[in-house]
Amino acid sequence: RSKMDGRGTWRFFEPAMDASLQSRRALETDLRAAMDKNEFDLFYQPIYDLRMDRISGFEALLRWRHPERGLVPPDQFIPVAEEIGLITPLGEWVLNRACAQAASWPNELKIAVNVSATQFRDPRLAAVIANALEVSALPPHRLELEITESVLLGNSAETIATLHELKARGLRIALDDFGTGYSSLSYLRSFPFDKLKIDQSFVRDVTAKKGSKLIVRAITRLGKSLGMTTTAEGVETIEQLNQMKAEGCNEAQGYLFSRPVPATELASTILSLRNGLQSLKRSDWGNL
Ligand code: C2E
Ligand code: MG
Ligand code: MG
Ligand code: MG
Repeated sequence: RSKMDGRGTWRFFEPAMDASLQSRRALETDLRAAMDKNEFDLFYQPIYDLRMDRISGFEALLRWRHPERGLVPPDQFIPVAEEIGLITPLGEWVLNRACAQAASWPNELKIAVNVSATQFRDPRLAAVIANALEVSALPPHRLELEITESVLLGNSAETIATLHELKARGLRIALDDFGTGYSSLSYLRSFPFDKLKIDQSFVRDVTAKKGSKLIVRAITRLGKSLGMTTTAEGVETIEQLNQMKAEGCNEAQGYLFSRPVPATELASTILSLRNGLQSLKRSDWGNL
């Protein structure tokens, strides 16, 4: 509430403020109840290994099926979940669910799980992960955590220690949305990530803008020289794919391969992707 309240100055704006405040409160209330009402679900998007020419795993992407709002995308509720302290139980649910589902997949397939900054700072995180792996019997090397640079903001000793602990347990750590954060390069010095995921904003323009192409080239070379693999995010066209491959990217992910799909559609997605790639290769996919 503003200091000006009561003096009348802001009265004109109050209805609008109240409306947005009310819808925000409603969202918070619904979000708090969503877990018990079983409204969360994980969708999966394939990650394609360009060298091996096969799917190497899937990224778990959280969805909220709201009874009135429909399918709410994570960008609209994860920040709220973080603010109201719900991200810890929600993140735990995601980890348990993703590990349990991945345990039933063929052995060579990995599962990538996004971990938010608040979740990462929770001292219980390592125990939550250990438990998810134990209950599901998923081998640790099949679990990859995706963190963004915001996790590393402040560069605290605890964060680095947690990362080392998780890596020592056999998990793989990827730096997500790489290139869009604050001071990317210093983070690469503090921790040996396994993978850099090149943000889709660079991939989108890679065939149209020279600047994006040069940035992609710089990131892939930097990754390689630091012993990290690179993944192109948001690949939508064959031209983008060919360019990312030419720049030496190891993996690609995007609507060109598949949109995120429900767990029940995983097998059919793998099959249709296999067929689709065969026919693409016969035609314009050239030397892929
Ligand atoms: P992200 O981890 O960078 O995930 C990639 C996002 O790009 C996903 O959006 C995906 O659906 C979308 N995407 C994939 N391929 C393409 C493409 O070819 N074109 C375009 N335009 N978009 C593509 P989504 O599922 O809406 O997730 C958004 C963000 O929400 C994620 O970004 C991640 O930061 C966060 N998120 C999702 N699930 C979780 C979760 O379980 N926990 C946490 N903490 N964050 C999550
Ligand atoms: Mg991600
Ligand atoms: Mg990303
Ligand atoms: Mg993102």
